[in-house]
Amino acid sequence: MILHFIDNQFVPSADGKTFQTLNPATNKPLDQVAAGTALEIDRAVMAARKAFDEGPWPHMTLQERRKYLHRIGELIEKHSDEIAEAEINDTGIPANQIRKGAIPRAAENFYFFADTATKITGEVFPVDGKFMNYTVRHPVGVAGLITPWNTPFMLETWKMAPCLAAGNTCVLKPAEWSPLSANKLAEIAQEAELPPGVFNLVHGFGETAGASLVAHPGVQLISFTGETTTGKEIIRNGATTLKRFSMELGGKSPNIVFEDANLDRALDAAVYQVYSLNGERCTAGSRLLVQQSVYDGFVEKLEARVRNIRVGDPHDPKTDVGPLIHPEHWKRVHAYMDVARTEGATINVGGERPAEFRDGNYFAPTLITGVRNDMRIAQEEIFGPVLVVIQFKDDEEALRIANDIQYGLAAYIWTDDLTRGHRIAQGIESGLVWVNSHNVRDLRTPFGGSKASGIGREGGHHSFDFYTEITTIHVAMGNHPIPRMG
Ligand code: NAD
Repeated sequence: MILHFIDNQFVPSADGKTFQTLNPATNKPLDQVAAGTALEIDRAVMAARKAFDEGPWPHMTLQERRKYLHRIGELIEKHSDEIAEAEINDTGIPANQIRKGAIPRAAENFYFFADTATKITGEVFPVDGKFMNYTVRHPVGVAGLITPWNTPFMLETWKMAPCLAAGNTCVLKPAEWSPLSANKLAEIAQEAELPPGVFNLVHGFGETAGASLVAHPGVQLISFTGETTTGKEIIRNGATTLKRFSMELGGKSPNIVFEDANLDRALDAAVYQVYSLNGERCTAGSRLLVQQSVYDGFVEKLEARVRNIRVGDPHDPKTDVGPLIHPEHWKRVHAYMDVARTEGATINVGGERPAEFRDGNYFAPTLITGVRNDMRIAQEEIFGPVLVVIQFKDDEEALRIANDIQYGLAAYIWTDDLTRGHRIAQGIESGLVWVNSHNVRDLRTPFGGSKASGIGREGGHHSFDFYTEITTIHVAMGNHPIPRMG
């Protein structure tokens, strides 16, 4: 049974209620999970509050906090096999992508943010020798961290590491479809001997546990990753208690291939960028824009590659694409195939359950052509192994199509023309742009979306803009004139 972790204790829900988590490869139950309510959230927030108000955590030296967080990073590496096992069983993401990607990155999140916190500085504003104004940063208090089911462990650490490095305490509410690996984080927090209440974990559904965390008056910060519609609701619900929000939301990112690009590399990236992580990736290049002059040749090669992608057991190191997270999500992705047909697009590859997999949520890597940007399949986030391809004539049209969408999370540009690369990169309405590169992250750089893809940036010192409060201190250096009244 998967329990909550409150004040360094693993505990069930007070009412004893649980829910099941399923193995996406079979849809057989993996485990029972405690279903948290407002009561568990209140207990967890109280523990986090006490750890913040009375505990040693916010007042420790930076070096002491750094040691704890490095220890967590080391323990993630030590327990990487168990974490990977839980994550693969729970999410269906292929072993290689978890073992070589998500887990090392989770450890790196702790090393990186622990070290970056030691470099936080303030600003100084000397004023004509008469004043000295300067800023200091403080931790804010208790943070609510709400995470989605895609690569849960990595995303949980992406929030927890900077939050704790800044001296805050937190309550994590992981997604109900992939709760298992969060408990590995709790076990590691216990093994690292984090002071009680610094890290708390409450499982449960969004409308109950998640909503209670957002509404709780003892919480100052909400860092949320998930769907845009959920983000809007969270902002509404957090308004009465005036929360500070970081919102990492949905995307439908353009991947633009120009005729002068290195087409072999562009092809490799186009395939990996949408079919890795089972297509359940927020920054997926899920709208492929190909220039007219190279369109036919590129799509022909693309089709051959998509047919060759190995779908299989996510534990098999040779598997490229595993099952989707949940039967409900499978239905949602599948429903888009009817939308594609109705809209007049062509499903060149996939679009169905592969014949060899009768059980589980397997969905064949899918390629759809003949797509116009105004179709729903081009405008909406499908969040599965589904790539839609759109043709464009010139730079101006590429840019217009890329920007004609509510989202603005990521964009990818392939061209050997330096001027064009920069011009298009700066014209795209997007938080993140990669030129001649697939999604290679640098933890120092700001990460986040524009438009409906998010509010705010995390990464590097930007994470500390969110997780710290600034006090500006004005000091008079002499007897400046003070207007007299009364
Ligand atoms: P979701 O919005 O359904 O759920 C995310 C989390 O919010 C879950 O823990 C859920 O329980 C909780 N939740 C739901 N309703 C809530 C409420 N009313 N109050 C508080 N919490 C609530 O998202 P999902 O389906 O789990 O994840 C997929 C989405 O996440 C996609 O849209 C994807 O693009 C996005 N995503 C974005 C990024 C990014 O960095 N921008 C990264 C990963 C995923």
